[in-house]
Amino acid sequence: MNVLVVGGAGYIGSHCVRQLTAAGHRPVVADNLVFGHRAAVAEDVPFYSVNLGNESEIGKILRKEKIELVMHFAAYAYVGESVTDPLKYYFNNVAAPLHLLRCMIGSGVKKFVFSSSCATYGIPATMPITEADPQSPINPYGQTKLDVENALKAFAVAYGLSFAAFRYFNAAGAAEDGGIGEDHTPETHLIPLAIDAAAGRRPPLQVFGNDYPTPDGTCLRDYVHVDDLSRAHIAVFEKLTTPGTQLFYNLGTGTPTSVLEVIRAVEKITGKPVPHAFAPRRAGDPPALYADSSKAQRELGWTIQFPDIESIVATAWKWHESRPGGFKP
Ligand code: UDP
Repeated sequence: MNVLVVGGAGYIGSHCVRQLTAAGHRPVVADNLVFGHRAAVAEDVPFYSVNLGNESEIGKILRKEKIELVMHFAAYAYVGESVTDPLKYYFNNVAAPLHLLRCMIGSGVKKFVFSSSCATYGIPATMPITEADPQSPINPYGQTKLDVENALKAFAVAYGLSFAAFRYFNAAGAAEDGGIGEDHTPETHLIPLAIDAAAGRRPPLQVFGNDYPTPDGTCLRDYVHVDDLSRAHIAVFEKLTTPGTQLFYNLGTGTPTSVLEVIRAVEKITGKPVPHAFAPRRAGDPPALYADSSKAQRELGWTIQFPDIESIVATAWKWHESRPGGFKP
């Protein structure tokens, strides 16, 4: 299929572009390069530097490239910033995708794969989280993702849009060949910060809270490899042929891993200590978040190729070791 990947130069989008090519599809990337990196996308993949709110430009791309399906990754994802500057998040994460969707529907492109988030669940009452659990976000970032999910449901009914919304848990790791990986500015994620602390490129890692009601007192998260995530996005294509299809899937490994367990995995893989200190809890961090992703496994035949934290960290280390400056030369 000809697939437009909006945000295809970002962390998850760029891995998905590679997986699309490997699976025999034809990706086309649209990315405004605010957070994306041109070097994350192969030279031979058609690339458009455009804002997704620009309906006339997006419409031209849909027609010129004969796009059959759109994948959307172009969201802002800093939870703290979404609290202090919600306008930025509502414009980029809700208004801009609405422009994209209006353009798609007007052009007759009615297959859509959406990056949603476990942040739509807020603080769940039970664990692991299933797709049927109540969605009650506790910050504007999670709310913007839920707002788009709700818009998609209405568009499926009214316009025959077929869509899949994937609720990611903690995306992590890098391409196995070390060619692309995570490069955020600012970087706030645990694994890259722990790796950089081990390599002496950053100050000691702050562990946010060691008084949570968890086995070692630190937060539990569900780290899922970025290539495993990407493969699910492609496995869903054949489910989107019937107009009006609505699909929701959690994507996580289902294994809760604590912050201290991540630190130990980084120490083992890098062979270096991770200097760290305990710090107060970070506002808005739920004690534990992990997925029941059996629905994706059952319905999509999705298999997890990186089931444990060490195999995920090993790919991240390969990327950070070979490219300490990320995509910068
Ligand atoms: N974390 C931490 N120190 C850091 C960054 C993250 O202790 O410098 C913790 C954070 O509190 C959470 C886990 O690591 O429990 C994963 O955080 P991350 O920001 O990577 O992802 P999130 O779960 O917020 O999406």
